[in-house]
Amino acid sequence: MLSVDEAIAAILGEVEPRPVVNAPLDDARGLVLAADIASDVDSPPFDKSQMDGFAVRAGDVADAPTTLSIIEEVTAGNVPQCPVETGQATRIMTGAPMPGGADAVVPIEQCDFTDNGDTVTVRTSPQVGAFVIRQGAAMSKGESVLTAGICLSASSIGLLAESGRAEVSVFARPSVGILATGDELVPIDQKPGPGQIRNSNQTMLVAQVANAGATPRPLGIARDERGHLRHKIAEGLECDVLCLSGGVSAGKLDLVPSELEAAGVRQVFHKVNVKPGKPVWFGRLDAERAPDGRPRWIFGLPGNPVSSMVCFELFVRTALRRLMGIDPAEPQAVTARLETPHTSRGDRPTYFPACLHWTETGARVMPVDWQGSFDLRSTADANAMILFPAGDNHYTAGDRIEVIEW
Ligand code: AMP
Ligand code: MG
Repeated sequence: MLSVDEAIAAILGEVEPRPVVNAPLDDARGLVLAADIASDVDSPPFDKSQMDGFAVRAGDVADAPTTLSIIEEVTAGNVPQCPVETGQATRIMTGAPMPGGADAVVPIEQCDFTDNGDTVTVRTSPQVGAFVIRQGAAMSKGESVLTAGICLSASSIGLLAESGRAEVSVFARPSVGILATGDELVPIDQKPGPGQIRNSNQTMLVAQVANAGATPRPLGIARDERGHLRHKIAEGLECDVLCLSGGVSAGKLDLVPSELEAAGVRQVFHKVNVKPGKPVWFGRLDAERAPDGRPRWIFGLPGNPVSSMVCFELFVRTALRRLMGIDPAEPQAVTARLETPHTSRGDRPTYFPACLHWTETGARVMPVDWQGSFDLRSTADANAMILFPAGDNHYTAGDRIEVIEW
């Protein structure tokens, strides 16, 4: 049986980034840039005022207070018509271009004037350049402002917009089909009858896929019956990635692995030495077997909700990061100090739901009161998982331990 690290390495050995596409900037958040970006403008594009006030010649007001005659008023979006000569000032608003001749702005709060008057008395002496942002201070035309490989955040998207990119070259966002399997499942808006439960995994996986920056495609429930499962798998294989929930263990009706193989999917691994989630399955539909020549990646997640959740975060999310060009693609652990003593016993490494938070002295983590892979209730408080290695381990409060954030 593979270890978690071996399973992650096997996934990365099979998954390559999605093709590069031009995405509209409005749909680019969380995607990875595939090419360097140079600005097509200076920022700011002209010398501009940083304040509402008066544009002056600093030399004129070296001995404040000084009274100057107002020659013009310029608001943002307009261009000053008159240069400021000795003894003159232009009333200027934030964002408006500086008039010629002026070399400083005195904020309105430091000026005495009336709205209809034609003079202003400046009460302070500004330095040359005060409250003026020079053309190109933030970036100059032609300068490289973003490098390929960065994951687009709100601020980098703002910068792309300023640089005139309505579209941007990125690794395409993957689509992820989500297919729950199980005769016991009913849609979440129904009251379960005897022996039934709600299909909570689908909705949880939709949220996890969206958190990962991919596009979820919920496909409903496949019955534990070959014909129906086959039909739903074929539908799911339209997506780049297909996540099935349930049906991968050793039960009589755990038909997922054999039906995936019947659909041409090549098994890469089945079972990983991990708790929860041991029965997890991973395979690839190779390009030459796909009708459109595009490979697909398929995960069979165990049906227990916390197993599904943990396996998604460890394995599916790794594949999604690689598909989206995010580097590193492996889950990144942080080190935190345990807040309470804890004993962990088991023959498998355990990813234990926990609350991670930051304090003045660093990261702290508290295991939740978790009963096992069925227990989603206690996991709802968690935002991370602690890695407890296999074996008999006793920890005291303050011990340092590895944690992966969700
Ligand atoms: P399985 O992996 O199919 O053997 O299912 C393991 C456990 O998870 C069983 O108790 C199932 O009822 C439960 N389960 C399976 N699928 C789901 C689902 N979509 N939502 C919630 N629980 C599920
Ligand atoms: Mg089942």
